[in-house]
Amino acid sequence: MNGIKDRLNRPLQDLRISVTDKCNFRCQYCMPADIFGPDFKFLPKTEILSFEEIERLASAFSKLGVTKLRITGGEPLLRKDVASLIGRLKKIPGIKDIGLTTNGVLLPKLAKDLVDAGLHRVNVSLDAIDDDIFKKINGRGVGSDVVLKGIEAALDAGLGVKVNMVVQKGVNESEVIPMARHFKNMGVTLRYIEFMDVGNSNGWDFSKVVTKKEMFAMLSDHFELEPVDPNYFGEVAKRYKHKHTETEVGFITSVSESFCSSCTRARISADGKFYTCLFASKGYDLRELVRTYKEEEPLINEISSIWNQRRDRYSDERTEESAKAKEKIEMSYIGG
Ligand code: SAM
Ligand code: SF4
Ligand code: SF4
Repeated sequence: MNGIKDRLNRPLQDLRISVTDKCNFRCQYCMPADIFGPDFKFLPKTEILSFEEIERLASAFSKLGVTKLRITGGEPLLRKDVASLIGRLKKIPGIKDIGLTTNGVLLPKLAKDLVDAGLHRVNVSLDAIDDDIFKKINGRGVGSDVVLKGIEAALDAGLGVKVNMVVQKGVNESEVIPMARHFKNMGVTLRYIEFMDVGNSNGWDFSKVVTKKEMFAMLSDHFELEPVDPNYFGEVAKRYKHKHTETEVGFITSVSESFCSSCTRARISADGKFYTCLFASKGYDLRELVRTYKEEEPLINEISSIWNQRRDRYSDERTEESAKAKEKIEMSYIGG
């Protein structure tokens, strides 16, 4: 086993698997409704990887060192019978942790099945407690109570829960404190995500980013936070906890403090393309390979060769110009 891992010159620890590019929300920073409208062409079913194909790819990745999987989308809970995929992935030797990122709407219906299948944790996205702000952001008029019920359902089912909040200037920075208060009271980790220039449709520019430094300053007026050491190499969140509690607050600082040099994450889109960076323009087709070969070796060879050629450091080098000029894949397609 180690022999296979030795083929890589940079560590590869986690894999994000998108299982659909569709979503029941139209978050303005991810799938703006004017672009992702009724005429938008989502992937046809024939192009989407089957659960068996996903399982075979995840198995090949596990031989190269991947121990953590995250299921994402679009909205992954819209993929029919996604719990059975979790069950398959759970059985792959070497996979120690399976998480899923969701908007939470379908958790009351599915949380128990997901846990029974072997899911360990969910990250639930919620950008505001205030209904008017949240309804506007998600583009579908869904109130925060719907997502809060999903979070409750996940906790009741025994899942680990973190809440993700994308913060945009002039949109929801007024919610930084109310969200912190709410999730501190619940004992749930809240992670603030800097608004990123993923894709080419969300109108991003630097002026719309609220940096970790700015958020931390706001929080410091209301809470006492103390730093927490990283759990492992390549941990993405900068973590703190509320003093005298075990409740954490984290920041994903991919704009203001990039972390490309320790990036150990690979991504597969729902149609089987392998991306070595969230801001990539080009993916490598693994679907053709997985549909052609029954053996694992060709998959392992291709994945290791692509990973070894990887030179990605987009966030380290980001400028206002590069963010606008470069053709990039959309967040709803690759899953974050
Ligand atoms: N639909 C699921 C959800 O919203 O959790 C999973 C897919 S979504 C693309 C994954 C994560 O990406 C979510 O936490 C979402 O808030 C985040 N995200 C989407 N667009 C973003 C952007 N432009 N900047 C920062 N985070 C973004
Ligand atoms: Fe859908 Fe998630 Fe994107 Fe919102 S962030 S539009 S819930 S995929
Ligand atoms: Fe990894 Fe690309 Fe993000 Fe850098 S910009 S941390 S290489 S995904």
